[in-house]
Parts: sequence; structure tokens; C-alpha cells
Amino acid sequence: MNSDNSQIIIEDLAHIWHPCTQMKDHETLPLIPISRGEGVYLYDFDDKSYIDAISSWWVNIFGHVNPHISNRIKEQLESLEHVLLAGFTHKPAVDLAKKLVEITPKGLDKLFFADNGSSAVEVALKMSFHYHKNRGESRPLFLSLSNSYHGETIGALSVGDVELYKETYAPLLISCIQTPVPKEQTKESAEEAIVELEKILEERGEEISAFIIEPLVQGAGYMHMYHPIYITLAKRACEKHGVHLIADEIMVGFGRTGTMFACEQADITPDFMTLSKGLTGGYLPLAVVMTTDEVYSAFYCDYGEHKAFLHSHSYTGNPLACASALATLELFEASDVIGENRKKSSYILEKVEKFKSLPNVKEVRQTGMITAIELRGYEPEERIGLKVYQYGLDNGVLLRPLGHIIYFMPPYIISNEQIDKMIDTAYDAIVRL
Ligand SMILES: *Cc1c(COP(=O)(O)O)cnc(C)c1O
Repeated sequence: MNSDNSQIIIEDLAHIWHPCTQMKDHETLPLIPISRGEGVYLYDFDDKSYIDAISSWWVNIFGHVNPHISNRIKEQLESLEHVLLAGFTHKPAVDLAKKLVEITPKGLDKLFFADNGSSAVEVALKMSFHYHKNRGESRPLFLSLSNSYHGETIGALSVGDVELYKETYAPLLISCIQTPVPKEQTKESAEEAIVELEKILEERGEEISAFIIEPLVQGAGYMHMYHPIYITLAKRACEKHGVHLIADEIMVGFGRTGTMFACEQADITPDFMTLSKGLTGGYLPLAVVMTTDEVYSAFYCDYGEHKAFLHSHSYTGNPLACASALATLELFEASDVIGENRKKSSYILEKVEKFKSLPNVKEVRQTGMITAIELRGYEPEERIGLKVYQYGLDNGVLLRPLGHIIYFMPPYIISNEQIDKMIDTAYDAIVRL
């Protein structure tokens, strides 16, 4: 190992507490210092390359150090790096707001900035609760899908349903109940789950502010996928009970599921849509909550009526992040990204066909540019995900399985040869388990 690599590892472990990590694991599992990125590749200090098969935690869509996005950020750097968004505004924020209103489902005409996904979820939850309050109703409960994930801050954690992240903090959480997510990707599963949703809304609808969902794919919930009809019917059911629908498109937005936004496949407009991750092309932290004029209006009155949404983050609408997001949207306009992705997903689906005959593969599933291989017959203590992860790293591919789920969620600019290498490496890893 290059001395730069080992020196960085030592200095890192002396001070940095890493996210989502049992730090003791690093006694045996080396950290990977990355020196640079280019396209789908990350490089360490020995110049060893890794195909980024997970888009660096699902954020990168047009590759690392994308020349267009980098240039746009550099240009912005010359004129304005940051200004508070209370009482002030700037062009990148306005241009981005206009663009997002234009491309998101019809009726989402207002936008509130945050600076990361969890904060956007907090904003949506607070706004929904506050909307009802401003209209004289008390709805202290939230509803979410079983197996869901919406982030790690207390409110976002409360509406998630991944035990591993949640159980320790149970006494701190806000009130949320779950309705079952459709078991499979079929229409029948979706319709079964709707019956359960309707039952809950019938019983407790008046207490519930909002129903929050990850449309089509539950990411951290093991890349579980379900049919769009569930969202169409859920929107209708929520409306009947005055319950908001929050579409958390933080992971699925910006083309990941085969359409620009997952909600398009259900042909609905949610009351709130949260966006982050791919929004800046994976460059800078930024998030937005899109909502309707109807919601906005419930807060609009004289100051003395105390109905304003007094929520803020220091880096709200940061100009560099907005410039990065605008550059990302320009790349979507410059070519038929969604159409090209459709070809790539088909190619990936053909390539993963061979996994189906492996005895330890339970299911292969895909929604757009997310493809998951579910393994069977392993205990959690075996940490097979970790074995696949290590095999991947040894062989130049960054795979980061979720337990027994190996998945591919690469940047959209991946070539067919790179897809071959990514998938063949995962296949070899599974064969060797
Ligand atoms: C990642 C994610 C979040 C949280 O976003 P952060 O920026 O990591 O706080 C929320 N919801 C979904 C669906 C996500 O995938």
C-alpha cells in the first residue's frame, strides 16, 4: 500500500467517527482513502480504480467530477458563495425553483429549501402538521409504510420503520404508525395493501396529518419494490380523509426509477414531494420540499396571526448547491437521459438473468436504474454482505450490499463494458460465498 494511503487511514481513525459504522470493524476492515474520481470510477492513492456501483450513497447520477457540473460551480464561485435566504434571494435559487416547478408533477408550485434529505422530511412533516393546525385541526399522528426509511433525524427516524436504526431511540420518537407495504411488485399485492391502508384511515384518519411513502422503491428497506397503482389508490384514499400524501423522492427522484419522478408512473400529484440526493448530481448537499398553493395559502396571513412557517437552516438554498442542481438539470435537457437509461436497464436486466439459476438467489428485481439480487439461506451474523463488499473492492467494484441484498445503482453514464464488469464481479462474489 502507498504510504499516502496508510498515513491517511491512521490520521482518519485518530479523529473521525464515520457514519453508519461500528468503528471497531475498522480494526480488521481497512478504510479506503479516495484521491480522485472520474466518471463511474473512484481512485485510491495507489491509483487503483473502483467502479462506483452505488453512486456514492445514491447521489451521483452523471459521474464523478462531471466537467459540466464542475464548471457551473466554478462560475458560481466567482460571483456569490452564500447569502441567507431570509429577506434575501439570488438567481440560482430562483432559476432552480422555476425549473423544479416546471418538471415536477403539475400543481407543485411552491418550494421550500433545506440542505439534506432528513431535514427535508422534517420540513414536510412539520408543514403538514402545521397546515392542519392553522385550519383549526389537531392531527398529532403520522402514517408510513412498513419497512420504510426516511432519514436519521428524530422526526425522519420516527416515520421510518427500519428496526436497526430506530429501536435504540424509541423513547424519543414522535407518533407514527405503519401500514403494510405491498408484499411484491404485482398489482394484486398493491390492491391487498390498499385494503389495509383504507382500514387504518377509516379508523384513525382524523388523527393523521400525513401518509409518507417512498414511491416505487424502498431503498434502505432492502430495495423493496412495489407497483405504481398502490400510489394512485393511496392518494385517493388519503384525500377522502383529509390526510396529506408526502412522496419522499429523495432516492427515487431524477430518473432513478425510469421516469424523471416516480410519482409520474402513478399519475398523481402528492401534497408534498421531498427531493435531495441526485438533485445536485451528487456534488453538494441540498434538498427541497415541493408543495401546493393550497398548503402555502394556509400559512399566508398577517404576521400577528402566528401562522408562519418559522423553520430555517443556515445553508438553505446555498448558491453553489443551486448552481450544481441547475447544471444537473441542464444535463437532463441536453440529451435523452431517461430514454438512454431505459436501454441500460434492459441491458442490466439481461445480464442479471444468470443469477436466477444460482441456488442461493431468491429473487432478482428491477425498477428503472435500480436492480437488486436477493439472496437466501444466510443468517445475519454471517455478514455475507460484507463478504461481497470485500470481494468487490478487491476486484475494483464498489458494491455495498444491504444485508443479503446485492444491488446495482450506478451513475447513468455507465457504459455497457462497465456494466459487464460490475455485474460479473458481483456474480463471482456470490458464487464464492
Ligand atoms: C437518503 C434518504 C433520506 C435521507 O436523506 P439524507 O440526506 O441522508 O439525510 C430520506 N429519504 C430517503 C428515501 C432516502 O433514501
